[in-house]
Amino acid sequence: MSKKEKSLNNKIQQIYSALGTEGIKELLKPYIPDIVRLNGETKGNVRCCYPENHSHGDRNPSLSVDLKKGLLHCFVCGDKIPGGMLEFVAQKRGIKNLQLINELAIQHDLLPDKSGLNKTLNLIREGGLKQHERLDEIAQSVREELSRKGKFIKTQNNEAYYFDESKHKLYEIHKDNEQFAVLLYKLGELNQADPDWKYVFNDLRLYTLSKGQESDVWKFTRWDNGKLYLSRFDGTMYVLDGENIETKNNGSDGVLFIDRNDWEPWMIEESKNEFGLKELIGQINFDTVDPSFDGITLEEYRQLFATCLLSQFFIDLLPTKPLLLFLGEKGSGKTSIIRQVGKLIFGSNFDVKTVERGKEDAFTAMVAAHFMVPLDNVDTSITWLNDALATTATGNKRTLRKLYTTATEKEIWPRCFVWLSSRTPYFRRDDVSDRLIILRLKRLPIGKFIQEGQLLRQIAENRAGLLHELLQKLNTIVAYLNKHDISQDCVNFRLADFAALGKAIWTALGGEEAAGAWERILNKMQVEQEDFALEDDPLPLVILEWMGDDNEKGPICPNTLFTELQCTAEQKSMDFTYKNARSIGKRLSNIKSTFEDRLNIKITQSKGRSNITLRTFKKIKRDG
Ligand SMILES: [Zn+2]
Repeated sequence: MSKKEKSLNNKIQQIYSALGTEGIKELLKPYIPDIVRLNGETKGNVRCCYPENHSHGDRNPSLSVDLKKGLLHCFVCGDKIPGGMLEFVAQKRGIKNLQLINELAIQHDLLPDKSGLNKTLNLIREGGLKQHERLDEIAQSVREELSRKGKFIKTQNNEAYYFDESKHKLYEIHKDNEQFAVLLYKLGELNQADPDWKYVFNDLRLYTLSKGQESDVWKFTRWDNGKLYLSRFDGTMYVLDGENIETKNNGSDGVLFIDRNDWEPWMIEESKNEFGLKELIGQINFDTVDPSFDGITLEEYRQLFATCLLSQFFIDLLPTKPLLLFLGEKGSGKTSIIRQVGKLIFGSNFDVKTVERGKEDAFTAMVAAHFMVPLDNVDTSITWLNDALATTATGNKRTLRKLYTTATEKEIWPRCFVWLSSRTPYFRRDDVSDRLIILRLKRLPIGKFIQEGQLLRQIAENRAGLLHELLQKLNTIVAYLNKHDISQDCVNFRLADFAALGKAIWTALGGEEAAGAWERILNKMQVEQEDFALEDDPLPLVILEWMGDDNEKGPICPNTLFTELQCTAEQKSMDFTYKNARSIGKRLSNIKSTFEDRLNIKITQSKGRSNITLRTFKKIKRDG
C-alpha cells in the first residue's frame, strides 16, 4: 500500500470511529431505508437498495451490511453497489469519494492540525535520527503538546486519564479507547496501525501514572459537599444545591466525570404534554397479590420503583446498593422497563446485556464500564453469579483478568446499580436476596398489551421533559438532605442506607405521610426477600417435617442428615430435589440467616470426628 493510500485508509478509519455505528446508519438511511431493520445490531441483512433487481422486491433481504467494517454486499447486484460504504454514499450523491471523505472529516472535526505538532513530528521523522532517539523525540513532543492543552490525571486505582481543558472532556488513556486514538490522530496524524503509536501511547500512560495529577474520576453522578453533580455527557454538568440548578464545565469544583462515548447528552425542557414520570411508572404491569394477604400493593410497588430510580442519583450515599430484580414471565415487560429507564437516562444507544457461564470477566468489565448494569434474562444457574452480585452490591473489589493486557490484573471497585430481569432466578443465596428489591411483574391480557417499540418511542420523544422533571425532584431531595442528618434513620432495616435514603426522598417529595408508607413497604419487602430465598426449595418444609415436635435435633453428620431427610420426604411423598449430602450442606450455609428469621430454626455447626461438620437444629422461641 502506498503512503497516500495508507493515509486515506487512516482517514476513513477515523471517520468510522467518529461516526460510530449509529452515525453510519444515519448516513446510509436516505439510500437504504431498510437499514433500520438492524436495530442495535452492527451486522445483518437488509432489503436491497435496488429492489427492482430482485424477485418480490427483495422480500427476503439480500443486502448484507457490516457497519463496523463499513462494508456492503449484494449477490444479485454485485458491482453495481460499491463494497465500501463511503464510496456507496458518494456514488449516490454523485460526488467524488475524496470529496465526501473531506466533507465528513471537516464535519467531525477530524482534520489533522497541519501547522502545529504535525509539522514538528514530520521534521523529527525526516531528521535522520536513530530509531530510539526518533521515538523518544516524537513521544516527548506529543506529551508537551498535550500538556499545553490539558492535564494528565491518575486515579488511586492506577487508571490514566487525559483532560482536554478546552473541550472539558476526559479521555481514558487506554489502548482500546477509540476517542483517545482520534485525539492523537488529530494532534499529530498518529495512527494506531503505526509502530510510533504504541511507543507514544506507552510513554503517555507511564508518564501519567508517575507524574500525573492525582484526582478521583466519576461516572455519571457525584454527591459532594451538599451538592449533587450530574454529567450531561457533553463536557458540562448540572450542579444541584437544593435551590438552583447550575450548568458548569466538567472539572469545575474538582469534580471530574468520565463519560462513555455512547451516552447521549442531556437536554432538558419543561414538558408541555401529558407524559411524565407518573405515566411512565403507571405503565408497568406490577403483579400484586390478593389484598387479603399483606403483600405489596400496586401503589406501593410504584413507590418502591420510583425510589430505586431516584436513589441511583445518590449512589455515593449508598455504601450498599440495592440489586433491582424484575421477576416475571415472558411478555410481562420486564426487559422493556429496564430499556426504557436506561434509554431515558443514557440515551438511545443503551441496551440490555446478558451474562453467560464462564464469562465472569465480561461481567466485571460491564461493572467497570457502566453506571447502570442491565442484565437481561438471568435464568440459568451460573456458579460465580451469587458472589458477583454480592460483591457488586457492597462495592467490594473485583478483579479483571484476561481482558486487560497492559497489566496482569486490573482492580475494579464497583460503583454501579445492577438491574436484573429473570423468570427463573438461581441467585437465591441469602446475602444476595437480602439486597434484592424484588419487583414482580405479570403479563398483560391481549388487547391491553402495548408494543415495546411504542413505549420506547414515548421515552425518546419525551426525554427532555422527563429529565427536566427528574432534575426538579432531585433538587428538592438535595434541599432536604442538606437540612437533615439521615445517618441514624432506618438502622434496623437490612438495606439500611437505601431505607434511610428512601425515607428522605419521600419526606422531601411527599411529606410525613409518604414517609410512613415507605416504612410499611420496607417491612413487606423484607418478607418478600425471605420468601424469595426459600421459594421453590423443598428443604425448609422437609426439615420442619423431619423435626416434628422435637425442639432440637442433632448434632448430626451430613450423610446421616441426607439419608434421614430423603427418608422423611419419601414417607410424606414430598418433592426432594437434593441428590447428596454436599448439596444440602452448601444450601444450608447459603440460607442460614433466612432459616432463622423465617422458620425460627437456628442452625449451629460443630466439628466431629475427622473434622466432619456436624449440625444442630434448634427451634427458637419468640415472644408473641
Ligand atoms: Zn441487490
